[in-house]
Amino acid sequence: MGMAWSRSDSFNRTRAVGVRGLSNCSLSCCVNALLQSFAATTELQELLSRWQPSKESGTYNVPLELKRALEAMKDKSQASPHLDFLMCLHHNRICRLTQHDADEVFHATLNLIQKQMSDQQIAAEIKNLYITEVDVCTQCLGCENVHRVPNLFLSIPLYLQEDETTLKDCLKMSFESQKLEGSDAFYCVNCEVKTPSVQGSKLVSLPSILCFNLKRFRNNSGFTRKLNTKVSFPETINMAEMIPEEHSQVSESRYKLYAVIVHSGTAMMGHYTAYIYSTDCKWYYIDDSHVVQVSWGEVQKTYGGRGRFSDTAYMLLYRTLSSEKPKNP
Ligand SMILES: [Zn+2]
Repeated sequence: MGMAWSRSDSFNRTRAVGVRGLSNCSLSCCVNALLQSFAATTELQELLSRWQPSKESGTYNVPLELKRALEAMKDKSQASPHLDFLMCLHHNRICRLTQHDADEVFHATLNLIQKQMSDQQIAAEIKNLYITEVDVCTQCLGCENVHRVPNLFLSIPLYLQEDETTLKDCLKMSFESQKLEGSDAFYCVNCEVKTPSVQGSKLVSLPSILCFNLKRFRNNSGFTRKLNTKVSFPETINMAEMIPEEHSQVSESRYKLYAVIVHSGTAMMGHYTAYIYSTDCKWYYIDDSHVVQVSWGEVQKTYGGRGRFSDTAYMLLYRTLSSEKPKNP
């Protein structure tokens, strides 16, 4: 009896924490940090577990190896549950021996899931977990005709300036209207000529998993430098309050932060780590194989603005708190 009790006790403890480290295999810190965020995305895991891979899935199939890696990560006796996934990315031309951009690998992984998954219905559901729909509206100032182009984002890019800012201000700025004139003038199909116009974005729909990419890398004549600008972000947000009403058609949409992918170092020599809000309602800091429980105060230290080599938040993942299922395109 005693044995049975202790076994079930340790099993529960493992399940409750749900966070484990991943060894660094030839510069895999970027993929490791991303895998931690995927492991924390229970919505993604549920969809992957519903998928019955067919025999035609073949070798080096990204969705299949991701499904296997996420399952293997739950077994803490496995020292490196992510090796096959790393190898699989490598064979899909995401070379693991070079420095990656976490947002690029995030996009590449989700796009390869769309391409390589035998069940296209589940593949579409996975995509819809992340898709934010934004219309870019350009209004001709001559005839007032509005040209609308729908855009779908897996992660919302936020462009930073040198000055300290907030997530809300970054969002407000990226939705702001701007006048297009002179060489930037827009071709109006109605007037059949380039005319001055006003261009702005409108938020159309939000996903269950809302991902922001803080664009900290800036390319200046072939040389990439990193912006350590301070960008503060709250633990919970209401998207209806984050974007001016005239640029949004979403109602109350509350989200909670559950993963922060962190970049430290310079654009040339960097390292990725992750903060994860686990199912046991605690924050953890994961630096490859090293895992430590932390406070929200520690997560806030990744806002940036603390010197050249400080840890800075690079990707933020929020999940919906709304009871209503968000509308997907
Ligand atoms: Zn016009």
